[in-house]
Amino acid sequence: MDDSTRRRFLKDLSLGAAAFSASAEGAQKNEMPGRPPSADTQPQASHPTSIMAIAAHPGDAFFAMGLPVALEVHLGGQGVFLSLSLGERGSARIPPAEYGAMQRHAAESAAQKLGARAEFLTYPDGEVPVTEEAKFAVCDLIRQYRPGIIVTHWRGSWHKDHEACYKIVNDAIFYAGLPAIERQQPPHEVGRLFFADNWEDANGFTPDIYLDITSVFERWREACAIFPMWRGENGFRYNDYYGSLAVTRGCLGGCQHAVALMSPADQLTRRVKAL
Ligand SMILES: [Zn+2]
Repeated sequence: MDDSTRRRFLKDLSLGAAAFSASAEGAQKNEMPGRPPSADTQPQASHPTSIMAIAAHPGDAFFAMGLPVALEVHLGGQGVFLSLSLGERGSARIPPAEYGAMQRHAAESAAQKLGARAEFLTYPDGEVPVTEEAKFAVCDLIRQYRPGIIVTHWRGSWHKDHEACYKIVNDAIFYAGLPAIERQQPPHEVGRLFFADNWEDANGFTPDIYLDITSVFERWREACAIFPMWRGENGFRYNDYYGSLAVTRGCLGGCQHAVALMSPADQLTRRVKAL
């Protein structure tokens, strides 16, 4: 079976490896988007899982990665939104210092509305550096919050900050789990990594998971609406795009609203080998 056509329909991301170890026959049955989810929807998680969204800009964290975070918090897990910059250069009208403060305030309010926390590393918007310093800063926050799941950017992006974030997070996860690297916090191995469905990161993005987020969709929309750019003020209609996308993905996932996620190739390979 071609990995690019594999689809899995989930009610929750905090599933043990066994949940992904579908038989070949079961995996084949999941290939067709739109088929009713009843038989193929994975069971609910036995325990809540902490989740961390790590994005280049606050808008990406909440608009493209916010729904999986909202869901895991709703199910009893801990949620953290980490933005590597404030996205302070995102407005053509408002000066960066002022807009950055607005973005920070919006992210904090939106996180609070979803029962999550907001963290920032405040690298300059447009100049997020792929440095060891940045990787260790993210590593330290991973060790501090100890997420079972991380959602971040897919590398196939036209935005250099998004591509930088992908690289930083991948190495930060590696550093966070390595016992030989001594930091203030003890090592932490992240259980699962997923890439978010982002309009700016569409190059080669091939989702393999459809997550039913119907239960948190409205609250997530209210949280996103706190951001000044949500309704298209900066030129892109995030509200229309991501709201409609959740409906579209829901059609394919066999539920009202869904988000599509992409697993790293090695994560898929590991699971396939476990069959
Ligand atoms: Zn962005």
